[in-house]
Amino acid sequence: MEQELSVDLLCLHCQEQLRGETNKIYKPGDTIKCDSCGELNDYERVIEIAQQKVVELIKSQTEGDMTITLDKPDEK
Ligand SMILES: [Zn+2]
Repeated sequence: MEQELSVDLLCLHCQEQLRGETNKIYKPGDTIKCDSCGELNDYERVIEIAQQKVVELIKSQTEGDMTITLDKPDEK
């Protein structure tokens, strides 16, 4: 069974969804500007929170009996 999981990237300040700039590839150290409150969000932190959400999502779907590790592709 394959499932695709997707979570929204949320603003660290107002929790609104971050859309970022179209066609821009974000990398560590970048900031994403929030459309709603205009604050800048640290890309790495936003991703970290999104990854935690994915883990929680998977855990809730598997009733918590699965160990999940996430590798950041940029950490080699
Ligand atoms: Zn915001």
